[in-house]
Amino acid sequence: MIKLHDKYFKPFISAKQIDEAMQRLALEVANDIGDEIPVFVGILNGSFMVVSDFAKKYPKPCEVTFIKLASYEGVKSTEDIQRLIGLTQDLTGRTVVILEDIIDTGNTLAEVHRIFKNENVKALKIATLFYKPEAYKKDFKLHYIGIEIPNKFIVGYGLDYDGLGRNLPEVYQIKETQHMTNLVLFGPPGAGKGTQA
Ligand code: 5GP
Ligand code: MG
Ligand code: MG
Repeated sequence: MIKLHDKYFKPFISAKQIDEAMQRLALEVANDIGDEIPVFVGILNGSFMVVSDFAKKYPKPCEVTFIKLASYEGVKSTEDIQRLIGLTQDLTGRTVVILEDIIDTGNTLAEVHRIFKNENVKALKIATLFYKPEAYKKDFKLHYIGIEIPNKFIVGYGLDYDGLGRNLPEVYQIKETQHMTNLVLFGPPGAGKGTQA
């Protein structure tokens, strides 16, 4: 178990599982796209590890670029997406593959579609390492999905909790039994001592 700021997280997805999922994703995209040279667009900050590993596993020539959006505050997604760095190159006629760390509500994805609406790309495909189907509220097609996960907050492999956890090579899930800990702490003196997991 690890602690970041005020919250505890437990091991959830190993570095090996992530590596296997990334390998599958890279080959799936490569097979699908054929001989065209795609432009991979990472959504910073969260996708920096995804893009790095994906690009290394991609078996054919490709271009890589980034845009920077921010939507999350603490452990909650907000609808107010900030565009921090936009597109810096002409993508007319290109096959673009968005590389996301995680798709949760889909708010960020909606903003991505707004950004690309007037770019005249040949095709816009969405690839994400993690996907929370229970949280997804949009209709945009997700073309390539690495691992489906339950609707719980995770950190690691690029994903942060208020700035921390991005450097972890594996993924951790928030530990929700913290409420129980509080209950015990507010109970009679001595209760809960030595009993917490
Ligand atoms: P959405 O806009 O789909 O709700 O969320 C997309 C972005 O929110 C992701 O790219 C990521 O930065 C952040 N996010 C969504 N779910 C999680 C999560 O479980 N953990 C962390 N650390 N960030 C998340
Ligand atoms: Mg992201
Ligand atoms: Mg974040």
